[in-house]
This record gives sequence, structure tokens and C-alpha cells, in this order.
Amino acid sequence: LGAGIGGHEDIVVETGGTGPGSFDIDYLVVGAGGMGMAFADSILTATTRTLAIVDRYHQPGGHWTLDYPFVRLHQASSVYGVNSRRLGSGVIDRVGWNRGLPELASGAEVCAYYDQVMQQDFLPSGRVRYLPMSEYLGAGHVGSLVTGRECTIDARRVVDATYMDIEVPAMRAPPFAVADGATCVAPNALVRLRGQHDRFVVIGAGKTGMDSCLWLLGHDVEPSAITWVRPRDAWLSNRGFALAQGISGAQALLGQVGALADAQSFDDAFERLQHHGRLLRLDPAVTPTMYRSASVTPAELAQLRRITAVVRLGHVREIHADRLELAGGTVPATPTTLHVDCSADGLKRRPSTPIFGGRTLTLQSVRMSQQVFSAALLGQIEAMSDDDAEKNALARPVPHPDVPLDFFRATLDGYRNLLRWQEVPSLHAWLAASRLNGRRSL
Ligand SMILES: Cc1cc2nc3c(=O)[nH]c(=O)nc-3n(C[C@H](O)[C@H](O)[C@H](O)COP(=O)(O)OP(=O)(O)OC[C@H]3O[C@@H](n4cnc5c(N)ncnc54)[C@H](O)[C@@H]3O)c2cc1C
Repeated sequence: LGAGIGGHEDIVVETGGTGPGSFDIDYLVVGAGGMGMAFADSILTATTRTLAIVDRYHQPGGHWTLDYPFVRLHQASSVYGVNSRRLGSGVIDRVGWNRGLPELASGAEVCAYYDQVMQQDFLPSGRVRYLPMSEYLGAGHVGSLVTGRECTIDARRVVDATYMDIEVPAMRAPPFAVADGATCVAPNALVRLRGQHDRFVVIGAGKTGMDSCLWLLGHDVEPSAITWVRPRDAWLSNRGFALAQGISGAQALLGQVGALADAQSFDDAFERLQHHGRLLRLDPAVTPTMYRSASVTPAELAQLRRITAVVRLGHVREIHADRLELAGGTVPATPTTLHVDCSADGLKRRPSTPIFGGRTLTLQSVRMSQQVFSAALLGQIEAMSDDDAEKNALARPVPHPDVPLDFFRATLDGYRNLLRWQEVPSLHAWLAASRLNGRRSL
């Protein structure tokens, strides 16, 4: 198995092939994003098996390669990436709105990291064939997006590392009409501003919308010059809640359980978690109707609250030079207003499907909003056994949360999985040693 990139003609083969230019492939991994990379890394570490990794992008890292330039991880670098290689230098941020908390890698840093993993670890192993700029067409067929040529890879198992179906604004046109004379861009375009706009309308209440608002405020845009379209308000995770209090993850969990013990209803439970400091909300007067695992620090929250022109009239339908039309009403605009489309549904709440399904593995989260940890653990589980029923019993999918109740559902499902893993000595040991396991103290 060559260590190089590409080479579509010589790659194909049937399992067990022995002729010149052929090789024995165990896994065809579709998607070199965070999940495909974390899964492949665990297989390489725990077995002697071989992998072909196919991706339509020119470099590994998935959505990170297309995200807005000022994106950063929402969680500590120390628990992101692949298990075998550290990301970041383990420092505590000393400046900015994340001050006092573990560093958050920038998008560029994440992409450079995945490039290093591929170039310095995976390919030199001699057990990985990487096909960037290649589209998986199904049934083992792969087409080069450069030459248009196709090949077939006959692997023992196909690993679908695309199931999360992540969408970031730069991947698509705005999902609403933009009339002549109006300007609407993805947040990626903000870094190319040259002072031509005097008002900004940020469309979307998710993490991308928050990041865009914070970026504008951080570049001295007056809060009064920003309008924020928030069809739904969210409960937000208080990033570094445990760290800020100087307590362990286990102590934080016990504290949360204690805070919830006397809750009379789900609304009451959320109020209690807010009071406890685990959850935050943008507007104390508005009851959130979504929970998507977005996280902020109290310093970021204070900044975001400076924006008072909040539009809660549902989704945007049309943008005109003089007005913004939404499902529930119209808001005036001017031709010099810049609309920033942050409405992409980054991670959808997709239906669960069994992860281990014969020849196909469909990578999904097995802990709430911990995709790379999940994929790494799934690689470990895959390496352990050939029995799909046994593996599926250990790996029940935990769909991405959407509505507030999902916070409890997904938390509960995640802890149920943890209890199952802890009964298997090899998984228990893996969890205790894994750098991606942010709950090592449990
Ligand atoms: C803005 C943003 C910030 C985030 N921040 C964090 C964070 O801080 N911490 C955290 O844990 N999670 C975070 N996430 C969640 C994130 O989804 C996961 O961490 C992880 O990156 C998901 O990786 P993935 O491999 O599932 O998806 P992707 O990154 O989308 O990778 C899928 C890959 O599959 C490829 N592909 C798809 N179809 C085909 C095909 N037919 N043929 C070939 N290739 C194909 C794509 O080209 C892509 O490279 C964030 C998500 C977003 C959108």
C-alpha cells in the first residue's frame, strides 16, 4: 500500500487482491472531517488494519476548511482532534473574552492540525491511502473531482463519516431571496470589509450568529448599528463552568444533580440550571425554545447583550434594499446595510440509525455534542469485536440536541452509554487514558 496521495487507477481492488498495484483494504472511510479522522486514528492505533480515506475537499478537516476565518473551537483544544496527537499547547487564554479558560484553536489551527495528522502520522504509517478531491458515489465507486476518472474500492467495510451532514453558510446560497440593491453575505466575507456599510443585520441565533456579532463588536462596531434576527432564543452552555469555579467535572455534575433535585417541571429545571450557572440565556425576559449545545462565556454574553435591536419575527423571507421581510413582519433597511447570513443549520438533529450495520458503519455521536470523541471511541469499539449486535449495544446514538428537552434526553442517553462502557475493561481503560474524554474524572 503506497503512502502517497491519490493514484486512482492503482487503488482499486478486490479484498485480498495480490496482483501488482493492488492491496488489501479493510476500511473505506468516506469523509476526512473530524469524525472520519478520529475514527481512522483509533483503528490505526488499536489494529494493524488498512484504510482508504476519501473526501471531496482538497485537505482534511471537513467543515473547518470552509468555515468563516474567525471561527474558533467552542470547546478546549485539549479535548478536540484525534486521540493520538495533541492539539494546541495546553495554555489558558490570558486575553479576550475567553480569558481564564483553556485555549480554543482557531479554524486555521484546526485545519493545520488535521494536515499534520495526515502528512506526519497517517500516510507515513503505510496503512492509509488518502484520496482528496474525490467524491464517493456509492457502492465502492469513487470519482476524482480533478480528472473525472472513477475507480472502485472494494473494502471490507465502508465507514460513513458524512452522516452529520454539517452545513455552514459558505456551503450554500442564502435560503431566502435577495433583491437587487440589497447585500447579503456569508460571515466569511466580514474579513473583507472596507468600511462601506454603516449598518449590519446578523441573521441567525446560533453559534455562527453569535460569533459574527462578537466579531463586529470586537471591531468597534457600535451595538446600535447591529440588528440581530433571532427567530428562536437558545439556552446556552456556560463554557468552563466547572473550571471557573475551580471544581472537577464530577463535582460539577453532582452540583447539577443537586440543583435539579427539587425541580417541579422542565421549565423550573432550566431556571435552576441557570441559577446554578450551568446554562445561560441571552435575554432574561425570553424563555428559550432551543438548545443546540452552543457555548459562551459570561464575558461574551455581556457583549452580546449590548445588542438591543433584536428581531423576533420568525425566519427571513426576502431582503430588499429598503426592507427585510420576515415570516411575521417587515423591518426597514437601507442600501448600505450589510446582511450577514448565519442561518445555516450547522448540525441538524438527524434520525438515529444503528452505527454498526454489516458492511457499513455510520458514525454518529454517542455522547451529547462530542462528535470527535464519539468517533474515536467507535474506532476503539470496532477494533474490539466483529459482533455488530454487541457493538451496537455499546454505542447507542445520541442525536444532536435541538429543543430544550433534548438537553435532558441527550445527557441521560450519554450517561447510559458511559455506564455500559465502564463495564468493559478495555473501554474503561481507553476512557481513562483518552485525551478526547473530557469526563475523565467521572
Ligand atoms: C462552526 C462549527 C463549530 C464547531 N465547533 C465545535 C467544537 O468546538 N467542538 C466540538 O466538539 N464540535 C464542534 N463542532 C461540531 C463538529 O461538527 C464536529 O466537531 C466535527 O467537526 C464534525 O465532523 P464530521 O466529520 O462529522 O463532519 P464534516 O466536518 O462535515 O466532515 C464531513 C466530510 O465528509 C466529506 N464528504 C461528504 N460527502 C462526501 C462524499 N459523497 N464523497 C466524499 N466526501 C464527502 C466532506 O467533504 C467533509 O470533509 C462545530 C461545528 C461547526 C459547524
